[in-house]
Amino acid sequence: MAFTVAIDGPAASGKGTISRQIAARYGYAHLDTGLLYRAVGQKVLDGAEPVEAARALRPDDLNHPGLRGADAAQAASRVAVIPDVRRALLDFQRAFARRAGGAVLDGRDIGTVICPDANVKLYITASDSVRAARRFAELQAGGADTTFEAVLADLRQRDTRDQGRATAPLKPAVDAVLIDTSQMDIAEALAEAVAVIERQRG
Ligand code: C5P
Repeated sequence: MAFTVAIDGPAASGKGTISRQIAARYGYAHLDTGLLYRAVGQKVLDGAEPVEAARALRPDDLNHPGLRGADAAQAASRVAVIPDVRRALLDFQRAFARRAGGAVLDGRDIGTVICPDANVKLYITASDSVRAARRFAELQAGGADTTFEAVLADLRQRDTRDQGRATAPLKPAVDAVLIDTSQMDIAEALAEAVAVIERQRG
């Protein structure tokens, strides 16, 4: 039976980790929708036109090695304001959400636009400085040459763009359960998310 979990929130809130762990726990398929926008953003960095790039997106494009970096993230948030880019990615995301066996999608507009009828909607957030510290630690561990201040500025710029755009802005769905992970470790955040899902699965 299809069961859809929609997980939204700003960058580095912990939503990706929570989504992967929920998918593993329940055997649901997982789609990191940010990767779709990053792949389109990367193609634009490589010279493509955004709407064309979104329409021509192929599974293999999601394997580009640069997609996790800050340049692809910024390019993603710039292409994500374009309504025709979002439209081009809509059907794929909705079909994924309806998979038999269940699906978890994480992004910015899953509970509001992509899956307004999702069985569970979570909005994962954390303070700016906590999110920047987490992302900075991740980047440092990966050997990236950056500073906490640069990471914080990058997150704030993306949040402002994501929250301020006219089409599908980042915001909690009215029926989303909010989880603020500022004072939680991943196990605590996951336990909260699982408790919400358990209530819905009955
Ligand atoms: O989640 P991630 O940081 O990989 O997303 C990169 C960018 O893609 C976000 O800053 C946002 O602009 C865009 N995005 C979006 N809608 C989604 C997922 C990501 O607009 N569902």
